[in-house]
Amino acid sequence: MEYLIEGKTGNWELVIGLEVHAQISANSKLFSGASTDWGADPNSQVELVDSGMPGALPVINKHCIDQAILTGISLNAQINKKSIFDRKNYFYPDLPQGYQISQFEFPIVGKGHLNIEIDGVEKSIGITRLHLEQDAGKSLHDQDIDNSFIDLNRSGCALMEIVSEPDMSSPSEAAEYVKKLRNILRFIGTCDGNMEKGNLRADVNVSVRRKGDELGTRCEIKNVNSIKFIQQAIEFEARRQVDLIEKGEKIIQETRLFDSNNLETRSMRGKEESHDYRYFPDPDLPPLVLNEEDIEKLRLKLPELPDQKKSRFIEEFGITAYDAEILVTEKYVSDFFEQIVEGRDSKIVISWITVELFSYLKRKNVSLEESKIGPEKISSLLDLIISNKISNRQAKEIFDEYLKSDVNADTFIEKKGLIQISNESEIEELVEKVLKENPKMLEQYKSGKDKLFGFFIGQVMKLSNGKANPKMVNETLKRKLSL
Ligand code: ADP
Ligand code: MG
Repeated sequence: MEYLIEGKTGNWELVIGLEVHAQISANSKLFSGASTDWGADPNSQVELVDSGMPGALPVINKHCIDQAILTGISLNAQINKKSIFDRKNYFYPDLPQGYQISQFEFPIVGKGHLNIEIDGVEKSIGITRLHLEQDAGKSLHDQDIDNSFIDLNRSGCALMEIVSEPDMSSPSEAAEYVKKLRNILRFIGTCDGNMEKGNLRADVNVSVRRKGDELGTRCEIKNVNSIKFIQQAIEFEARRQVDLIEKGEKIIQETRLFDSNNLETRSMRGKEESHDYRYFPDPDLPPLVLNEEDIEKLRLKLPELPDQKKSRFIEEFGITAYDAEILVTEKYVSDFFEQIVEGRDSKIVISWITVELFSYLKRKNVSLEESKIGPEKISSLLDLIISNKISNRQAKEIFDEYLKSDVNADTFIEKKGLIQISNESEIEELVEKVLKENPKMLEQYKSGKDKLFGFFIGQVMKLSNGKANPKMVNETLKRKLSL
């Protein structure tokens, strides 16, 4: 459905382009050997280069280059054999060099695209570029009443800036784009996608226009670090721009911030132009030259991407596109499913994962990964259901308690005395006993009261304390009654 903003003078179209900053998963920084571990003491992971000491020389981290190339390949993008590191000059207290090493005119990755799905319809979002750059340090303003502090642990960590074309036209498209991008990065392992830690964050560019018009003037909302905030920021910003234009005012291109408490965007500063940064090639770093062979090696190493996995799941396990989509929205979940489905009925596995297990996780408000529930925990339970040792209904009843326990399903149901009776002669015995004890009913049944079938089933189940395998009771009873 087309997303339009209703104004006083008619409808407006929304235009969105995103610049996503993704921290590369790497043990050391982009140009130094300092550790990137999270949560270390402030300023304990800082080499001379990271603190901007004059004369300290940057040395490129090959791992980070490989991660950028892998990401570029997964975004169907052109890998540039020659790229240049530039200095982007600006002052910030947590930027000790006085410039950021980045890429400007010649980035490592060029044009590509990524497909998102909105209401079952696929849309291709253009990728403009992906470039490598250093992260800045952190200013801490909340540690002391009188002083601010600087922590340089993050200074020099490798970032990929992934810039999209202004191809999105609703908050939900922007949300889908970030979800998809994050998922791809996590599948290939180039970024952990942790938005709470700020390892993935987006600058959100928004403008509005009349349908068919040229692009309007955009505002850029900086550093939005949750998918919900991205949607809220876009909604607010679009409305603000429409109201301004309809009042006869002009949109000023500027940098804004999103205030998640008041759900509004506020002006931070006028938008700087690229010439303000006085970009020039970093004299300490030669051009980055890649050879075809290395790129091809990485191409072969690229793990299965979410879309590929989805198609394979549909084909290999005969599951629906809907179910497959749910499974591949997290790599961890798709791996979990694959370990369980091997050698088991995929319909049963799907329903226990996406219905029972997911609703348990939702109630507990944890992700599957956080829950520490291993695949054996589920597969051992499914095996009991599949082999009729317990019924589906029993399994559902004990599910929560079982997941909280630290034993496997066999031990659990044994302890609980829940093992289902699925021994043929035992079931026959139960059935015969019930028939013998209810001669009147039996007579009525035989004279045509078919409905009484349910009565006999109920009696057998009762006699077995609910442990008789219902399917077998059904079959045995049918056989006995037709004699
Ligand atoms: P800058 O660093 O100056 O923000 P970039 O080229 O890195 O410039 O990023 C510009 C971003 O803004 C891109 O994601 C692009 O798609 C988006 N964009 C450009 N023009 C518009 C517009 N009129 N409306 C919305 N987004 C836009
Ligand atoms: Mg920008």
